[in-house]
Parts: sequence; C-alpha cells; structure tokens
Amino acid sequence: MDLDFDRQHIWHPYTSTLNPLTCYPVSSANGVTIELEDGRKLVDGMSSWWSTIHGYNHPLLNDALKRQTDKMAHVMFGGITHEPAINACKKLIALSPSNLEHVFLADSGSVAVEVSLKMALQYWHAKGESRPKFLTLSHGYHGDTFAAMSVTDPNNSMHSLYKGFLPEHIFANSPNIAFGQKWDEADIEDFANKLASHHSQIAAVILEPIVQGAGGMRIYHPTFLKRVRQLCDEHGVLLILDEIATGFGRTGKLFACEHANVQPDIMCVGKALTGGYMTLSATLTSKHVADTVCGGEAACFMHGPTFMGNPLACAVAEASLSLIETGEWQQQVSLIESLFAELLPPLLQCDRVSDVRWLGAIGVVEVTTAVNMEVIQQHFVDSGVWIRPFGRLIYMMPPYISQPEHIAKLVQSIKAALDNDQCFT
Ligand SMILES: *Cc1c(COP(=O)(O)O)cnc(C)c1O
Repeated sequence: MDLDFDRQHIWHPYTSTLNPLTCYPVSSANGVTIELEDGRKLVDGMSSWWSTIHGYNHPLLNDALKRQTDKMAHVMFGGITHEPAINACKKLIALSPSNLEHVFLADSGSVAVEVSLKMALQYWHAKGESRPKFLTLSHGYHGDTFAAMSVTDPNNSMHSLYKGFLPEHIFANSPNIAFGQKWDEADIEDFANKLASHHSQIAAVILEPIVQGAGGMRIYHPTFLKRVRQLCDEHGVLLILDEIATGFGRTGKLFACEHANVQPDIMCVGKALTGGYMTLSATLTSKHVADTVCGGEAACFMHGPTFMGNPLACAVAEASLSLIETGEWQQQVSLIESLFAELLPPLLQCDRVSDVRWLGAIGVVEVTTAVNMEVIQQHFVDSGVWIRPFGRLIYMMPPYISQPEHIAKLVQSIKAALDNDQCFT
C-alpha cells in the first residue's frame, strides 16, 4: 500500500496535514478480526465506531449485498420505490418504539440528525409558531454537519471556530447521576429550569438516551430520561432521541430509551443499521408529527438526498435487522456485559484509573491524564487488539459476536497500557 501517498494527500477523521499520525494498513476483516497488511491479526474492540455489530464479512450480509448488486445497485428514490427499501423500513418500524410509524431514509447519522431538526422546525412552522431553538445537554454529540454540531457540546466541537455562522442553542447540564447509582431529583433541575424559562422558543429537546457517546462516554440514570419525557409533555415540546450509537441492542435493550420506558416523538438511527456494511441512517417519527409537518405551508417534508434509500444499503440493512429479529443479540450483549462487570473493576486498583463503567456491550476506562495517541495506538496494535481511545477515555464497544477470550484480550491489553507511562501524557 502506498502509505506515503496516504500521508501526503488523504485526510482521515480529525487529522492534520502538517502532522499526520500513523495509519495502519488493513487488508481484510473477518468476524471480530481485523487483518493488517503485514499479516498481523487484531481483535476488534470498536465495531468500527459502533457499527459492525455482527462482525466483519458476515455470510448473510455479504450475500444480501451480492444479490442486490446483481439486480440494481442504485436507482433514484423520487417517484420510484423498491423492495429493499420497503422490506428494511417494515422491519425498522416493527422493531422501533410503537408510536413511530414514518421513516425518512438518509445517508449518515449527521444527516439523520439534520432531518430530525428540520422535522421539528417544520412541525412548529405548520402550527403557526416560531420556535427557533433546541434544548440539549452538555457533553452531547450529534454529528459534524452544522445543525448537528450546533447541538453538540460547544467545547468538544469547538463552536468558537464557527461563531457568527453556527446557530446558538440552549445547553443544560449533562446528567451526573450514573446508571445504577441512587437517583437524585437535583440532577434534572438545570434541565427543568431551562425548559421552563425557554419552552415557548424551543422546537424540541434533542439528546442521546442513557449513553452520551463521543462527548464523554457518560452512562446516566434512566430517571433523567423519564423526567425529560415528562417535562417535554408538560411544556408541549417535542423530544428527539438520537439512538445512532445506542440503537440495535448496544446498551442491552433494543433501543436505549427502553431503559426508561419512554418513547420519543422523533428518533434517529444510523451506525449499526446496516451491520456496519454501508452508510445508511433513518429518522423515524409519529403519525401526528409527520402529518402535521406535511399539513404546513410547504405541504411536504423538505428534504431528499440523491442517494436516499440506496438499494444496496437497504438490502444489507434488511439482512442486519433480520439478524436482530432473531433476538440472539440479547444473550451476546449480556455475556459481554457480564465480562465487563467481572474484568473492569479490578482496573480501579491502578492509580491512573479514575473510573470504570459499563452497560451492555460498552465498556469504559477513564484515566487521569490524556492518552498519548501515537504511543498507545502502537501499543494496542502490538498487543493484537484494535482499540482507539480519545482524551482520557479508553473504551470498548466490541462486535456482539465477541467471545470471552476476545473480551479478556481487549481488557488485558488495556491493563498493559495502564502500566506503561509512555502511553499517557
Ligand atoms: C456517530 C454519531 C452521529 C453522527 O453519525 P455520522 O454517521 O458519523 O454522521 C450522531 N449522533 C450520535 C449519537 C453518534 O454517535
């Protein structure tokens, strides 16, 4: 592989052309294993950013994609429909919270979030109300496009860089009471106050249910989400749940909102929707919201990407959802959860570790100083795993098919990193 070309010309996520960090050349991936060009095999602890839940090179998913390729790789979605889209959406609606009946297919998580925000704005416009604001939480993450970024934590997404262009929304304190701790009503106070004082301006609340992912891997108390739903109802504000990271079983429930027994008015999914094969996302909403949106001045929902409903993406989504439907993910995720429960607490004995936490197939080790990315990445690769930390967070979200020896190997190599000063700043 021409790694010099890569270094000199290709941007990777959040990287610099002045100081490009090492990129490891991958030649193939199978099951939970990523194979490097030099033949070394790495146990995957990331599911390629929450997406490859059934593992790589899955026969059923491969087959769905190959069969669809021979029929039709793509066709426009305006004025045309097709079996893969219908079948994927049927399964998606059947699995989703029962009030969600309408699906808008989009290309990425960020776009699904854009779509959800546009739906909320069009909803209030149709009702003749001007509600230009969204209420969200600090430490949230909703994507990298502008509207998604505007509801993402201002510091983590460097809002200062885009000041004057980026819309300014309302941020409430993120939850402090962790999942499994004792609930305290004080945790919802700031959110409740902000909603009470600004509700007539607020189109919707948007947040990640139960797990705040890229903004800090924070796992919070379900009662917080329950209160959010109650307060949104009291004030007549829509609730958008961003299940892009948490959806399809990752937290031990099919959707994280089930931990709090609540249903959103609008829900975004992405990442694992195609089992990590293709980029596809969806925004689902209730009949009431959809019909209100379409009863407004525009008389339709104003969005329509070129590759909307791409048949290859829909075919593999249908196959991935049919694997979800078997329910096997439940035993798989609870096995991983029990392994985290056993293997993570002992890491607290290391001075460097300030917290360990886990839920479903998510395991987090928080350390006291930021990692040295270049060194710790090399360490993980040398020890035969693929884990990509950020800041003070070393975290795992392995494929559901991971076996006990895989999880043990991931945790073992984190433990070895903790004992190596050079892995940290
Ligand atoms: C990853 C993520 C997004 C953005 O999805 P992309 O496909 O990267 O655009 C949005 N919300 C959450 C919660 C995510 O984890």
